[in-house]
Amino acid sequence: MAKCGVCHRGCDLAEGQMGLCMARKCENGVVLAANYGAITSIALDPIEKKPLNLFYPGSKIISVGSYGCNLRCPFCQNHEISYGFSFDSAGSGGIDLDNSFFGGTRDQFPECRFLDPKDLAELAVEYVHGGNIGVAFTYNEPLVGYEYVVDAAKEVHRRGLKTVLVSNGCVSQKVCEKVTEHIDAMNIDLKGFTDEYYEKTLGGSRQMVMDFITTAAKTSHMEVTTLIVPGYNDTEDEMKRISSWIAGLNEGNGAKTIALHISRYFPRFKMTDISATNVDTIYKLADVARENLAHVFVGNC
Ligand code: SF4
Repeated sequence: MAKCGVCHRGCDLAEGQMGLCMARKCENGVVLAANYGAITSIALDPIEKKPLNLFYPGSKIISVGSYGCNLRCPFCQNHEISYGFSFDSAGSGGIDLDNSFFGGTRDQFPECRFLDPKDLAELAVEYVHGGNIGVAFTYNEPLVGYEYVVDAAKEVHRRGLKTVLVSNGCVSQKVCEKVTEHIDAMNIDLKGFTDEYYEKTLGGSRQMVMDFITTAAKTSHMEVTTLIVPGYNDTEDEMKRISSWIAGLNEGNGAKTIALHISRYFPRFKMTDISATNVDTIYKLADVARENLAHVFVGNC
């Protein structure tokens, strides 16, 4: 048996067993990232799609995802990869990357292609002429395989390019500290401001996410996203508390100015009984947030 300390779940894993994230596995008594280098998704995206609006606006970034996630959001938009699957990490490839690259189809999913950190960094360099500024780790939850994020980010930095992380932020401070020094900019979800929503609906820890944002914002460019789900986190009072807490970080801990993205939910995956968030609600909540924050953006409207 071995214990994983990456996130709030603290999985105790028997030999050969996968954690709930379906990305980490006990091998020879050690918990490691079984998804290391296994790339399920790759694209050259506008930086605003991460979303990052205040970090090299107008640029593009090679964005990669693997598989696995430690949360269980019922409305997950990427459930095909975030809920994980068994994968031979030797990575025979299989997927024709040209078929999924730069907006192509993904009908061969869920096969993966193995890209070691140096190969990924070299790929990023190849696309600099097309406006690429570096590599973003995104799509699934990158930090359930944080070892790859760290190794690849080092290679990207060695080549003078930028690194971006898009994450749910629900990992231990130990992992946060290991990763943060290698990441230039982040977009972290703060999905709501009640423990009940985090614990009962998402299977996460609000406090762990808040601690992550607090620590990471001291050294990385930080933007935060809140997805507004009707009936769960769509009150003006909750938005006041979210924006007030972020404003406190802006003032209190030396963080650079933090932007908030307020995003519209659409029915997906297991949550199909709740209609998409009303656009007027999003604009109203953005106005509420602007009472506390200088940079508020709306998404999916
Ligand atoms: S990262 Fe995965 S294996 Fe580790 S504690 Fe979290 S869910 Fe469990």
